[in-house]
Amino acid sequence: MEYEGRVFRPPSEGRSLIIQATIGCSHNRCRFCTMYREKKFRMRSSDEIIEELRGLKNYYDYYKRVFLADGDAMGMPTSELMRILTFIREEIPQINRVGIYAHGKNLLGKSVEELKKLKEAGLGIAYIGLESGSDRVLSQMNKGISVGECVEGALRAKEAGMKVSVMLISGLGGRKLMKEHAVESARAVNRIKPNYLSLLTLMLDESAEIMRDIEKGRFELLSPEEVLDEARIFLQETSLDKTIFRSNHASNYLAMEGVLGRDKEKLLREIEEAIEEEDYKEEFFRGL
Ligand code: SF4
Repeated sequence: MEYEGRVFRPPSEGRSLIIQATIGCSHNRCRFCTMYREKKFRMRSSDEIIEELRGLKNYYDYYKRVFLADGDAMGMPTSELMRILTFIREEIPQINRVGIYAHGKNLLGKSVEELKKLKEAGLGIAYIGLESGSDRVLSQMNKGISVGECVEGALRAKEAGMKVSVMLISGLGGRKLMKEHAVESARAVNRIKPNYLSLLTLMLDESAEIMRDIEKGRFELLSPEEVLDEARIFLQETSLDKTIFRSNHASNYLAMEGVLGRDKEKLLREIEEAIEEEDYKEEFFRGL
């Protein structure tokens, strides 16, 4: 199977069959992100994708899940997504869940009824990069969406019965907006009450646009201690019930996981101990 350019997927989709439904990201202008910079955005047709799936027939037995990449495959027309999902359901019946990256605006571009149809056809989980619950942080990073829109999009997917996985990025507000980023992000996830919540940590490629601001002193990166302090404030402000929380991505200084709120105090203790004992991943090992 040949992919166009680099392909990204959530860690939990590591064993899924990855299909590029779109190439690149339709927005592609977030100032911290270089994931799809080299790609010119386009949607693949359902014919092309079904043809590709047919060609993989001999490998069907290896997979239980499918993940639709690239950046925001939810932007595809509902009828096209339905054709792909129907093919998967009919021809690869052992697939028990299809996942997708979903930009909040693309979720808002579909009605609850459309999303329900997609859910019934097998689309079980939407991964949404909220990144921050602060509008000032999103605007500074040119995310192209407001917090309110992203929350509304996530709630729409939930109403349709999909599982929702929300991603946030520690350090995205820099030093100046650190507290606001932590508090407002907790406020946003308290509204969404996602099934899964991932807290990643900002890691920048040299070509990321925000690097220019760093060079000119307009954006200050957080130290590892500050990143952990920000996570502490964030967790303290969360008011969740049964959200599976993970902060064990390669970018994180401290690996944590638990259920919020059940494990909130335990997670806060882990952060405090790590700060006290300076026991966190060294910069060199981040991303490995
Ligand atoms: S962060 Fe998401 S929306 Fe922004 S450019 Fe990257 S893939 Fe696109």
